[in-house]
Amino acid sequence: MLKIDLHIHSAFSDGTLSPQVLVRELKEKRVCVASLTDHDTVDGVEPFLAACRRLSIQGVSGVELSATHDRVLHILGYAFDPRHEALRVGLERNRNSRNIRNAQICEKLRALGCDVTLAEAETLAREAGSSSVGRPHIAQALCAKGCVPSLQVAFDRYLKRGASAHVFQSFMTAEECLQLVRGAGGLPVLAHPRQTALLDQIPPLLSRLKAGGLWGLECWSPGNNAAEVYRSLELAAEFGLYPTAGSDFHGGRHGAPSVGIRVAEDVLPWARLCGGL
Ligand code: AMP
Ligand code: ZN
Ligand code: FE
Ligand code: FE
Repeated sequence: MLKIDLHIHSAFSDGTLSPQVLVRELKEKRVCVASLTDHDTVDGVEPFLAACRRLSIQGVSGVELSATHDRVLHILGYAFDPRHEALRVGLERNRNSRNIRNAQICEKLRALGCDVTLAEAETLAREAGSSSVGRPHIAQALCAKGCVPSLQVAFDRYLKRGASAHVFQSFMTAEECLQLVRGAGGLPVLAHPRQTALLDQIPPLLSRLKAGGLWGLECWSPGNNAAEVYRSLELAAEFGLYPTAGSDFHGGRHGAPSVGIRVAEDVLPWARLCGGL
């Protein structure tokens, strides 16, 4: 067995730790292959890979892209060139979509009586070093203003899908997202399928994404129990997708245990993810 982690967030998006501190945590937990997958930004990738090299961890370039396909999907991209121009332009477009959505969320919040501004959320994000502002920063601003007792209550009451200040925002299409990752030499993987779609919606979704260039399916992800991991592995096999594993660690914020998932050595196509073949 090996410990790997291909889904981690740093303070460059909505995690709490720097890439360097994350890599120390990975070393401590004996993780040997890892990818930093911040939301819609690759700004943390180079410092993360440099820190991995110093501590002899196999670092893989990564990102978690927001894409729209009926609802918002998260597509992980791996092993791409982080300086690829078209990818950078696409990520910037997604960050602009985030900014539009964030402003609308804050407007809704104020209409609901919460004294919170976009500028406050953006200041919190900037102070943390983030280049990709998201709902967790708005949740922090709500907490700081005393509108909610915790980040989780901010999501449950206002920010999650179906809650009173939720805003549906279009990002790049799923097909465009798959092409961008492939165009940068990378491998696109559907993140946390069970958080994204109902069980019976997953096969048609995978069929369409596979036709668009999807490479893998995140089978080990937080909240997936053993039966769901097994079902995800079966789906991966059925659709010819590679199974991957990630903790979606944000710095311990959402009750995530820590980094690192134990998998059998033959689970991942190591050679491709690690730059060989
Ligand atoms: P965004 O990309 O700005 O829409 O924010 C997505 C992030 O918000 C996720 O990666 C999680 O960190 C956090 N998040 C989303 N849904 C929830 C939820 N229901 N409870 C707590 N955190 C959540
Ligand atoms: Zn996040
Ligand atoms: Fe996600
Ligand atoms: Fe994530």
